[in-house]
Amino acid sequence: MKQVWKCDFCSKTDISAEKISQHEPKCSFNKVNKTCYTCKYRFEAGYGGEHIPGCEINEDIYRGEDDGNCPGWVYEYLEKERDEKLNDILYDKN
Ligand SMILES: [Zn+2]
Repeated sequence: MKQVWKCDFCSKTDISAEKISQHEPKCSFNKVNKTCYTCKYRFEAGYGGEHIPGCEINEDIYRGEDDGNCPGWVYEYLEKERDEKLNDILYDKN
């Protein structure tokens, strides 16, 4: 058994904490990168397990997946995140 470090955004692990801290800012599932993977407009257009990316608002999906910073990006869990922040403000005053 080995102790590993895990990315906060995806399932990537490594025994080196440094490698994971270098990966996290660039991770495709980190919403700061605005990739398809965290966008509400993304859908899977492939059948039978083949991955073909689809975009509900027809942005460039290959750029969206690889480079991120898509102009049409909207966070997939925007409403949930907003509700959680509001709850924190309203009910967590202690
Ligand atoms: Zn990651």
